[in-house]
Amino acid sequence: MAASLVFRLHDRGPELVREVLLERGWEEYNEGEREEEDWNLYWRGSLFQTSQYHNLLPWQRLNHHPKTVGITRKDCLARNLRRMKATFGSALYDFSPTTFILPNDYTCFLVEYNRLRLARGTSVYWIVKPVDLSRGRGIFIFEDIKDLVYDCSVVIQRYISSSLLISGYKFDLRIYVCVKSFHPLTVYIHQEGLVRFATEKFNLSSLHNLYAHLTNTSINKFGPFYKTEKGRVGRGCKWTMSKFRHFLHSQQINELLLWQRINNIVTLTLLAIATSVPSCPNCVELFGFDILIDAKFKPWLLEVNYSPALTLDCQADISVKKKLVSDVIDMMNYTSTDSLRDRAYRKHRYKQPCFKVNHPSAPVLSTLNHQKKKRGNKGSHTQILPLLKTSHQPEKTKRGKLKQRDLEANYQRCLPPFELSKIREARCRIINTSAIKLHTNQTQNPILGQDSRTNESALNRQSRQPLVSYLMNNGSLYRSDVTNHDNSETEAERQRSGETDVSSLTPDTQESEEAFTRPAASWKLPNIYSTKPVRITAEKTTGNGQNIPPVKVGDFIRTFPFNRATLKASQHELDIRTVLQEIQSLTGQLVSGKGHKMKSRREEKVTADKDADTDFDSLLWGPKDPPLISQCFKST
Ligand code: ADP
Repeated sequence: MAASLVFRLHDRGPELVREVLLERGWEEYNEGEREEEDWNLYWRGSLFQTSQYHNLLPWQRLNHHPKTVGITRKDCLARNLRRMKATFGSALYDFSPTTFILPNDYTCFLVEYNRLRLARGTSVYWIVKPVDLSRGRGIFIFEDIKDLVYDCSVVIQRYISSSLLISGYKFDLRIYVCVKSFHPLTVYIHQEGLVRFATEKFNLSSLHNLYAHLTNTSINKFGPFYKTEKGRVGRGCKWTMSKFRHFLHSQQINELLLWQRINNIVTLTLLAIATSVPSCPNCVELFGFDILIDAKFKPWLLEVNYSPALTLDCQADISVKKKLVSDVIDMMNYTSTDSLRDRAYRKHRYKQPCFKVNHPSAPVLSTLNHQKKKRGNKGSHTQILPLLKTSHQPEKTKRGKLKQRDLEANYQRCLPPFELSKIREARCRIINTSAIKLHTNQTQNPILGQDSRTNESALNRQSRQPLVSYLMNNGSLYRSDVTNHDNSETEAERQRSGETDVSSLTPDTQESEEAFTRPAASWKLPNIYSTKPVRITAEKTTGNGQNIPPVKVGDFIRTFPFNRATLKASQHELDIRTVLQEIQSLTGQLVSGKGHKMKSRREEKVTADKDADTDFDSLLWGPKDPPLISQCFKST
């Protein structure tokens, strides 16, 4: 029988995630029925504990990276952007309204308040937001300092009083950003998103009217005009991004530049924390970036949401969020091997946490804390682990920290999870003898990334032969395991046959005769995608061996890295200066209009197909039918 993947929802929500996963054939984790760690995905709206990162098993994913609070809490975001501005200059970091954190910055705020009051003829407005609240709670706007009252930590920000209006209504954009990895930084933005409107006309003479000044749905859905037909906006308070694109077409603007600027805001914001987020290859995170566009079409970052709302309030939500969640799951790139949780965990009581070797530029999240964790079934994996163990014991520095080479040794000692390794072992042998070409680089799990213990490169470090023989001799390697688990090939195969069946592969006959003892039924791979196939495409590799993440996953468009230079700059130590130069150069071309003319979609495709294998390319996120960046510029 096909093994299912198991999801675990904290506090029984969000309902949409449950719905999407159940439709895809997953099972829900129920406390009491399953053991504490018997799941493939743990989804929660709030923070995970550090120990939960430390103890991740290879087939488990979390929906948050550790320590992203640096951009998702209003005060931390302000601090981090201020730091980036001070270090790298304000030429690029000019997308956040001037912000002060009170009470600490009160004096600085006062200086700025007075300076602007004296210098400008027109009024200046300020918006006050509690640092750790969301959904518009506790927010107010003021012009005169006598109206500034607060009893908790708040940020006070220049209020953008000249926002772009549609039929007199203020709006902002909710952009969905998925960070597949921080090390190396790999970012995707969803083509769909939401436009959120205020439900009363913008009016600076009524600053207290939140229905006119705030665009939060949580506020506006209770407004008196929520259900009323409101000019071009219509009923309700949301549009899809597609509808907004239609609106943009009617404006005489450099649309590509607007999208690119929003795209830059996302990258530049993530750069602010990229080097401080620990490497955790099993995490994929969805952020909600709130962007306000002013009357001059300049986009501003208002805030970054940690767990963007996935509730379905209206038709726009339904058309955007369901596909969004589904694409996030695809981004997690579950493969057939992940369903081995079932066997590895239940049968062999596999208990070895997913030890991380951090990216050189990343701080070390985990030393060997996980070894301290008390678990039941101690030594239950002894059947396999002796094969993986090295005699080398980690040596501590005087301060008790493990040396890098020891971390490396431990990394090797802990990997690979035996069920995964035996599959790969056997697959390699089969492929060698059946003349099916399998490129090593294609077997890299795009989610787990370079540092993953399940990477082929890491697996290659193990001595394969003894392990395979051992497993085979012990009868724990079956034909069902001996399959091509490479995504692209499995995908192609599935498309051809409608199901995953490995009977067309020719196994290594010499060894298989004695070792493969399972009945014919075991030849079928556990079909983990009962309703939906894996859609993520295999990574390409550049000439010098760097992995190029897929350009698109569902409707997510890769926005970083966006060219060879940024790929290179993010591979080892994140080279922020080079990244900034590349962003500046690309934006410069769009500003000058050089990238404005686009080829027709067909022309573009013909040239793109020619270039595809030789060139690193990216799509320009934002416009309908996003063009290839290279084609944008070649057309001028
Ligand atoms: P919350 O986390 O409570 O939603 P936000 O920072 O997103 O806080 O602010 C809520 C709303 O207030 C935004 O959606 C936007 O409509 C408005 N807003 C926030 N900051 C500004 C600003 N600096 N200028 C203009 N409007 C703003």
